[in-house]
Amino acid sequence: MNRRNFLEGTITSGMLLGTPQTQMRENPAQPEIVIESDQPNQPHKGRVLAAIQPHCDDLPLFAGGTIIKLIKEGYTGIMIRTSNDEMAGRGATVGEVVLNNEKDNFEVARRLGLSRTFDLHYRNHEFDAVAAAELRHRLIFIFRLMKVDTVFCYDPWGHYEENPDHYVTARCVEAACWMAGGQWDLPEHFAAGLTPHAVSEKYYFARGPQLVNRIVDISSVIDQKVEANLANVTQGPAGENGAALRRRLAEQKLRLPILGNDDATANRQYIRHIVLHEDAELGRRHGVEYAEPFHYIGPKPSMLDEYVRKNAVPL
Ligand SMILES: [Zn+2]
Repeated sequence: MNRRNFLEGTITSGMLLGTPQTQMRENPAQPEIVIESDQPNQPHKGRVLAAIQPHCDDLPLFAGGTIIKLIKEGYTGIMIRTSNDEMAGRGATVGEVVLNNEKDNFEVARRLGLSRTFDLHYRNHEFDAVAAAELRHRLIFIFRLMKVDTVFCYDPWGHYEENPDHYVTARCVEAACWMAGGQWDLPEHFAAGLTPHAVSEKYYFARGPQLVNRIVDISSVIDQKVEANLANVTQGPAGENGAALRRRLAEQKLRLPILGNDDATANRQYIRHIVLHEDAELGRRHGVEYAEPFHYIGPKPSMLDEYVRKNAVPL
């Protein structure tokens, strides 16, 4: 599970390419890495997040801790799974694989604290054949219907992502976030009673290098993150991984103490110590036990409001 390498912090001009110098356009809303810690008193009450994944194992691996944390802090949440997961995992036929993953995905959503699941059922591995506008329109409908404020998704600008399901979903989500706020886009929605509603916050995760500006401390919810990953029996990382490793080592007269003495403990500990080892390494680098990295994009402060506050004079 080679997951991520990332560029941390602001890239300064010329740092990567030498001369001639390049320059990143500055965004005052995200100048540097922010460590997001637990927040008391449910500050997010009334807000809605959409956790979006092509496949049932994406969110639990890369963002499960942060989603569970934000739900604890007051968000309500929905799951959107864009594929049907037909190409991954166990089953006697493709149809059985679809059904097994569908059941796992419902359980993943429940364990992440998400109250509703929308399965879009596009064919697994075939997203480069999906009409992007169609997927975007379906997402806009859900964002308006559920009044989504915050999304979790793959980073549409993550590097070396080789799975079209990941990058097509990510790009459609990115465009849908702002288009959902448009007053002219998809007017039939308004005739049906919906209103424009833009997404204001995004947490993007990636398997490869990405620009990271937010580290979320998930130490207090790591047990629940492990449980969410244990729901993915069909395509992993749960199932028999830990138990199988324990048996294989026993045949070689070896034992890993972290795997304990029974299969259930071995599977749980395998996820915590092996599958999620990068969460622990990232946490160590930032002074916490476990952490998840994101490219976070939030609302930009209004330059106009600030300008008026500083410069307006009485008539
Ligand atoms: Zn995936």
